[in-house]
Order: sequence, then structure tokens, then C-alpha cells
Amino acid sequence: MERRDSGTVYLVGAGPGDPGLITRRGADLLSRADVVFYDRLVHPDVLKLAPDAQLVDVGKRPGDSAKGQERINQLLIDEAKAGKTVVRLKGGDPVVFGRGGEEMELLVANSVPFEIVPGVSSAIAGPAYAGIPLTHRDHASWVVLAAGHEHETKEHSSLDWEAFARAPTVVFLMGVARLSAICERLQAEGRSPDTPAAVVSWATWPQQLVVRSTIEKIANASEDAGVKQPAILIVGEVVRLSETLSWIERKPLRGKRVFVPRTRAQAGRLSGALRDLGAEPLEFPAIRITPPSSFNALDEAIAGLGEGWIAFTSTNAVDAFWDRLSSSGADARSLAGMRIAAVGALTAAALRAYGIVADLVPPTFTAESLVEAMGRGSGPVLIPRAEQAPDDLVDALERNGWSAACVPAYRTERDESSVDAGREAIDAGIDAVLFTSGSTARSFVELWGPPPEGCVVCCIGPRTAEAAASLGIRVDAVASEQSIEGLVNALVAAVRR
Ligand code: SAH
Repeated sequence: MERRDSGTVYLVGAGPGDPGLITRRGADLLSRADVVFYDRLVHPDVLKLAPDAQLVDVGKRPGDSAKGQERINQLLIDEAKAGKTVVRLKGGDPVVFGRGGEEMELLVANSVPFEIVPGVSSAIAGPAYAGIPLTHRDHASWVVLAAGHEHETKEHSSLDWEAFARAPTVVFLMGVARLSAICERLQAEGRSPDTPAAVVSWATWPQQLVVRSTIEKIANASEDAGVKQPAILIVGEVVRLSETLSWIERKPLRGKRVFVPRTRAQAGRLSGALRDLGAEPLEFPAIRITPPSSFNALDEAIAGLGEGWIAFTSTNAVDAFWDRLSSSGADARSLAGMRIAAVGALTAAALRAYGIVADLVPPTFTAESLVEAMGRGSGPVLIPRAEQAPDDLVDALERNGWSAACVPAYRTERDESSVDAGREAIDAGIDAVLFTSGSTARSFVELWGPPPEGCVVCCIGPRTAEAAASLGIRVDAVASEQSIEGLVNALVAAVRR
């Protein structure tokens, strides 16, 4: 029988940067790993896929000795032999210029089982994110991937420069420091100086920079543009196609750093929408949701459920109400016979997740709109809300004949956990900040002071804008529809102005 005393080492490709480009298999292994040895060029969000693992930074820095590399290799072997599940997380694809081959040889020599999980190489993703098709029926039916750091005059160079000069498309990795030498050598081998060339640095990262030129001029052009490592060089007619095919640079929020001070649980969807439009969301929770100081009122309300209306004004209210309902052993049947209102499409969606279809969703996502939509009537209206919520909704409903009651279902509190990281992000420069509630605006100011000059301040609705203004914040844009889409659209419009 096979002896299984050693854990497996998984050589996993992390992709070129954009955390969305890791494979599902890679993500799955990260979630199960005991220890992750990662390189310098791995996006921090990829590491978040391994919340339970020990994370070891083995990124080589200039000046690190070969001894250092040996020590890393030994660690890898030791951890596996101790029976652990080890992920060796490498930038791009693990076996494209990543020394993955050498690491595998070592694992074999030490009888450590391993697997490879391919990744999206920067050699593939860099051109793609620059709108350069590596192959094209009219221009290129073969491609060369080469290491550009090898000295082009090295006596026994393994590089076939004559072939590079003929290849329709050549991608050089590790070559930025030698750009001019590479391009001169290509010309010396007969490649026309007018051959299109592009440098893509930090491909797929928010700071991706693309410089397009010719092999004669690309070295100067990329120096002028301030190109930094890591970068790839692409040579060939296909580069010209990016004039019409570039897509990422056309995104409306391209390169914008947008501060999102939401609770951890809520930031995800907003950040996803921002990322889709090319922005770099900077998520730092400013508030967190905690239980109310007392559940008495909510418990009483839950015990008395059965008739009248129940109105939910936020997803927080839905979740908090349901938490309490379930912990009392009850379920959705407690609401049988009641009418249910939801302010906002997201609130309605949160209810649907609990099997409830709202009877009433007012046309605009404000409390005022709820009052208007309910009109005049009588009977009880239960409103589970934040403990600090104002009474105006109750007053307005009562004026219309209802007997309304707000019961505290949760509290919002300032979340200090990210104050330093948030400060750092602001100091590095932010282009916009998005407020989704008065409480996020208030906590933002308390944690980090007023938003910096020149940064676009965008609020999800008139109430949030009012709250922000009362804190002395200058508001640049207010969403016309109170939803994530509405907020993001308002930001796009404000950035265009
Ligand atoms: N295994 C990696 C390559 C490692 S060699 C992969 O498949 O992508 C390191 C070189 O990769 C760098 O010198 C640079 O040329 C290139 N590289 C890695 N990530 C990059 C990125 N995000 N943008 C541009 N080039 C990158």
C-alpha cells in the first residue's frame, strides 16, 4: 500500500495580478491549505482566499542570496513532510519563467508528492488587457515567449535572435531593464524599425500602464512614461490592432481609487460594480452592525406578529429581524397574514432570500416614498430599524392614520479596525468616496477627517447627502436612484464632469 506520510505541495498559479484571474481549483486549494508560500507579485486579495493558512512571503528581493532560495525550498519540503497541505503560490503561471520546473525537480528528488495548477500568465494576460491579440488570422499564427533578461551578446546565448526577428509576435518577459538592447538586437537581425511594439507594466493591476510605439522608439517612450517593473514587451503587427481593440483604458472609472467605507459584509457588491467599470475599490469598514442595547421591544413585537404591516427599510433591518426571529425558534410562517413593505430593491431581494415576496416596494427608495405609497390607512405598522434611526417615519405614518412603531433591531457602531489601513489609502491619494448612509459618513469623518480636497464625494440618496452636509462635507453627487447601480452611475457622471 502507498505510504501517505507526506502532504502534497501544490504549485498554484496566482495569475498576473487581477484577483479574478485565479482558477477555481487554485482558489479551492488556497481555502484548504495549511501553509502558503507566496511570491512578491501576488495580489493581496488572492491571499485572502486562504484565511486559515499560515502565509509565508518568500518573494525574492534584489540582493537575496542563492542560500535564501535553498532555505525556501527546504521549508517547502519540511512542511510537506510534516504532513501539511502546502500551496506554493506563484505569479502568473507557475511554470512559465517561474522556476516552477526547478522546484518540481527538487520535490521529486525528495519524494514529496506535488501537483501543478496552471495560472494565467502575464505573457497571455498582459497583451489581452492591453487589447493586443497575440495571434490573428491576418497577422500572426505563431508566437514566441522569451526571457528578455539574458544578455543579448552572451556568447552561448540560448536565445535565437534571428528567429525572434522573423516571428510575427514576440513577448519578452523580464526584459524592461534591457529594452533598448533587445530592440536594437531585433533591428540588427533585420526587423524593421517601424515594427509596432508595446510595453505593458503591472498588467491587470489597477496601475496597469500600456505604452505603444515601434521597436525603434519604445525604449525611450517607456522611459518617458515612467514604466516600472514588472513589465512585458510585445513586438509585432498585432500591437497595432490595440488602437481599435483596447478596452480597459476606455472604462469610465479607469484608474480611479474609490474609497468604500461600508461594513465588511456589504462592501462586496458595490466594489464589484466599481471594479467592472475600471475603478480600484478601497474597502475599509467605517461602521459595523451590532445587536441593539435591548431586544425587549423586538421580542415583544415578534411575539405579537400576526396582523397589519411590517416595513423593512434596509437589508440590515431584514437580516437583524430574521436573526432574532430564528433564534426564537420561529420562521417565516410568523409573518403569515401580514402585509410586507420593503424600501429599496436590495431590501426586497434580502426578503426574497428568506422566502418572502414584499407586497409593496415604493417607487423610489426613500422613507418618504414609503409613506406616500402606503397612503392613508389604519392598523399597526411594525418597523424594525436601527436603534439610532430618527422617528420621522413613525410620525409621518401616524399623521396618515396608521399606528406605527419602530423597534430597535440593531445598532450601527463605528468600526475602528481599519483606521490605519484607511489612513494609508487616503494618504496615497483617493479620487472618490462613496457614502451609503448617514452613519457611514459620520464614522468616516470621525475616523479619517473630512474627505480630501479634489476627491469626489458621492451619496446614495438625499438623506445621506443631508447627513453628510450637516457634518460639513461638500457633496458632489447624489444618486438619483438609491441603489448600488444608482450610486455608481452618479459617480461616473460626476467623474465625467
Ligand atoms: N510566471 C510568471 C512570470 C514570472 S517571471 C507569469 O507566468 O506571468 C517575472 C516576469 O513576468 C516579470 O519580469 C515580467 O516580465 C512578467 N510579469 C509578471 N507579472 C506581470 C504583470 N502583472 N505585468 C507585466 N509583466 C509581468
